[in-house]
Amino acid sequence: MDFTLSENQQMYVDTVSRFVKNEIIPHVLELDRSHKFPWDVITKAWELGILNLSIPESVKGYEIDPISTALIIKELSYGDTGISTSAMCNDLANIVIAQHGSDEQKSAFLGPFVEKPILASFCLTEPGAGSDNSSMTTFIKKGADGTYLLNGSKCFITNASHASQYTVFCKVGKPTGNFMACVIVPSLPLLPSDPVDVAAGREINLPGGGKVIIGKPEDKLGQRLSNTATVTFEDVVIKEDQIIGDRRLGFKYIIDVLDYARPMVAAIGVGLARRALDVTLAYTRERKQFGQRICDLPVARETLVQMWKKVELSEMALMKAAFKVQEKKEDRGIYASLAKNVAAEAALFCANEGLHLHGGYGFMSEYEISKLARDAHIIDIYEGVREVQHMIIGREIV
Ligand SMILES: Cc1cc2nc3c(=O)[nH]c(=O)nc-3n(C[C@H](O)[C@H](O)[C@H](O)COP(=O)(O)OP(=O)(O)OC[C@H]3O[C@@H](n4cnc5c(N)ncnc54)[C@H](O)[C@@H]3O)c2cc1C
Repeated sequence: MDFTLSENQQMYVDTVSRFVKNEIIPHVLELDRSHKFPWDVITKAWELGILNLSIPESVKGYEIDPISTALIIKELSYGDTGISTSAMCNDLANIVIAQHGSDEQKSAFLGPFVEKPILASFCLTEPGAGSDNSSMTTFIKKGADGTYLLNGSKCFITNASHASQYTVFCKVGKPTGNFMACVIVPSLPLLPSDPVDVAAGREINLPGGGKVIIGKPEDKLGQRLSNTATVTFEDVVIKEDQIIGDRRLGFKYIIDVLDYARPMVAAIGVGLARRALDVTLAYTRERKQFGQRICDLPVARETLVQMWKKVELSEMALMKAAFKVQEKKEDRGIYASLAKNVAAEAALFCANEGLHLHGGYGFMSEYEISKLARDAHIIDIYEGVREVQHMIIGREIV
């Protein structure tokens, strides 16, 4: 495997790195404190072409491969993992359409993302169905006129308050049905310039029939620059052309989505881990105690070495997983889980140890490391908690 980046890949890395340096890092603590959704940054990212990485050439005119996608998300995450989570969520929601939708569905449901800076949500988790998503109860039921009605509630949904389209996984026929489907629910397009107040939650009456009810944005420990809310679907009319692929194969499609998306979460983890290492190196090079720079005190130096090793090793795991996804290798699932798992460990380790090396200053919110420590936790939780990744790895190796 050649680790040299192609000219295109290097260009993506340089472009995103410049964007992060100019548009995110100087304002990130202020943005994070404001609790306001960073529409400006998202719009600029869209203009730069670093949103909607999974949309195929047939719709967008060009395609970004999974290795480049991982590099872009990693660079963006170096700036802020709430912003990259929100950006990457479009791909989480849209990859199933790219992978299993018909040409008409790709054009109808992916085309708008090329035309406008709009957001999508991926609706899998429910209050009673988290790690065990097969126990979900949201369902579609066919009516006499041949259309279906979608009913149920999803929780912890990224971008929910601002989304123009929802990708929803649901049971077929009844809440306890054996089959799972994937349906697309376009909502009213919501542009950054639209004066919509999402703070109290909102109800959207869909032109096609039925209602989407969005809860208040969740008040979170970290990743405050991503939006998270509950979404309830009430008698939402679903036509045949809103069902992706085979309406019995939803569970397989979830696995396909996660095989693609877990390396992207790993990219989020590696980006955060590297940022934590860099801000800690900068701090410990400046701060002196016992007559020496902190980075020169042997025990502190050892911690910095451990942090650097975690960053480098998780980056290697990420690149291997992205390569396996790109080459559509049979064993991509185990490497996707490995990368997600070790990158989450790296993010948590580097943020926690980095905070420690800042001493009391690390506990102050004006130091970025305190924000990174808050942000890191979710990387070990969303798209499958640590134990679920271990379950997948364990099942594959024995
Ligand atoms: C900020 C944020 C954004 C999110 N975005 C989305 C989104 O866009 N779309 C979406 O569908 N979901 C989203 N999620 C949901 C996320 O994927 C789930 O929270 C996650 O899968 C875990 O489910 P749960 O919270 O119900 O925890 P549970 O499944 O209840 O697990 C709780 C704990 O139990 C233990 N556990 C669980 N399973 C096992 C096991 N098999 N073996 C041993 N121990 C186990 C683990 O310690 C785990 O942390 C988001 C969550 C958050 C917090």
